[in-house]
Amino acid sequence: MIVAVRKPFQEIKKSIADFQNILVVGCGTCVAVCLAGGKKEVGLLASQLRMSFALDKKEIRISEETPERQCDHEFLETLREPVKEVDCLLSLACGAGVQFLAETYPEKKVFPGVNTSFIGVTEAAGLWTERCRACGDCLLAVTGGICPRTLCAKGLDNGPCGGMMDGKCDVDPERPCAWVSIYERLTSEGRLDQMESMRPPADFRHRTKPGKVTHLAYLRRYHAGSK
Ligand code: SF4
Ligand code: SF4
Repeated sequence: MIVAVRKPFQEIKKSIADFQNILVVGCGTCVAVCLAGGKKEVGLLASQLRMSFALDKKEIRISEETPERQCDHEFLETLREPVKEVDCLLSLACGAGVQFLAETYPEKKVFPGVNTSFIGVTEAAGLWTERCRACGDCLLAVTGGICPRTLCAKGLDNGPCGGMMDGKCDVDPERPCAWVSIYERLTSEGRLDQMESMRPPADFRHRTKPGKVTHLAYLRRYHAGSK
């Protein structure tokens, strides 16, 4: 899932301070799981903003909506009526959701309420850690299911580097070297031969931005002319 963190309150407040009628828009998917932008967080932020502007003796109206996702048109369409009523939108979705919201409602100013951090997992209650950089050319099949492009501090496709010491990373001695973890995993799987040859330089054509994926089943029917 995409992991995000709410922006500092004062930064959010400053971004919307020139408006009277604001819609705080959450997202019911990834950012709800990481407690940054779901329905509950929308309610908390809206209340905090109301109280803070009231203390400033500033009249302001703040409403709240949390569609299932902000990265899908069908869910953004459900906001059409509430959006008509407001001056600006404060989105607590990831960066993709904020942009899709802005594209869907070009007549409104849209501001982000979270910092999008990474693609990760829920490692423990309240703890999310990064696992993937969406490189577009996954090599987990040959690295024992451990991603060096994410978990190695230098993102090396071949390792370990010369800085590894006692199984730890020289960039952060508290952390295990990702390539030692890969070595141990491949050893336990009886697949250490995967480390015997050098991996060729990464094909950066897979990493050009912006990315685009068209599902084969939809290509001919809906996206003729697309790649
Ligand atoms: S190699 Fe790593 S960054 Fe690339 S897709 Fe696989 S898990 Fe993600
Ligand atoms: S010590 Fe290991 S994890 Fe750290 S940068 Fe070198 S290869 Fe990567």
